[in-house]
Amino acid sequence: MTHNTKPRVSVITGASGGIGVAIARELARTGDHVVLLDVNVENARVQAERIQAEYGGGTLAMACDVTARESVETALAEAASAFGSIDVLINNAGITRDNLLFKLEEDEWDDVIGVHLKGAYLCSRAAQRYMVEQHYGKIVNLSSTSALGNRGQANYSTAKAGLQGLTRTLALELGPFNINVNAVAPGYVDTEMTRAVARRLGKDPEAYKAERAATIPIRRAGEPEDIAALVQFLCSDRASYVSGQIIYACGGPETR
Ligand code: NAD
Repeated sequence: MTHNTKPRVSVITGASGGIGVAIARELARTGDHVVLLDVNVENARVQAERIQAEYGGGTLAMACDVTARESVETALAEAASAFGSIDVLINNAGITRDNLLFKLEEDEWDDVIGVHLKGAYLCSRAAQRYMVEQHYGKIVNLSSTSALGNRGQANYSTAKAGLQGLTRTLALELGPFNINVNAVAPGYVDTEMTRAVARRLGKDPEAYKAERAATIPIRRAGEPEDIAALVQFLCSDRASYVSGQIIYACGGPETR
């Protein structure tokens, strides 16, 4: 079943970061109203204004901490009251706190697991109420190739693997309500998250990007737009028979 002709309402978490902004832009370009949620609301507002100026349609930016139930439920209720529904949820908010296990502190574990896993759980639970009622919805979770294991990222790779389980389970539970749930698992994508890794390693971000590109079969780093295009496809009704899938977007086979 496809959506009616009204613009859909798409909520993107972590929408002031590299991939989140690109997803918001792509969903707006293809006709959705977009709701940008982030703890960094200043930049989310700037991005929402740019999107509005470029594509028209409805845009809304709100402060939201995905790890806080009240914050999530209030933001989604405000989005639904502004635009009439919640049709699409992109669980994109993310952080890294990298350390080898022997140095990995409890708060670094809790924070990373919290943003990715509790965040996706809270946002999905709040959004499905609207989706179930209207018998239509799309959820996309941002996983990662790190789900396959990555040195120094026990917290992050565990969270990203957990999101794959959440994706398949929610696809089973929500499928009968015409809600598709999928995950996109990017490899290296050039954003502030990966530039910060370069700086932590004492490397120039551009040089680090080129170094990483040389190890990728397709010989280039991913750009946020590469991920946004795939997310948009999974949210489109052309992908309405795709659910519970983890799609790797990493310029080659999904190996580490
Ligand atoms: P980014 O750091 O540019 O953006 C992440 C955004 O999430 C930031 O705007 C940040 O403020 C926001 N955020 C953090 N904690 C939050 C919270 N509690 N509530 C709401 N918002 C919060 O990172 P990015 O590269 O754009 O990453 C986006 C997603 O893609 C993340 O889930 C990340 O793990 C995933 N990912 C990124 C890469 C990559 O190479 N960049 C690869 C694989 C997966």
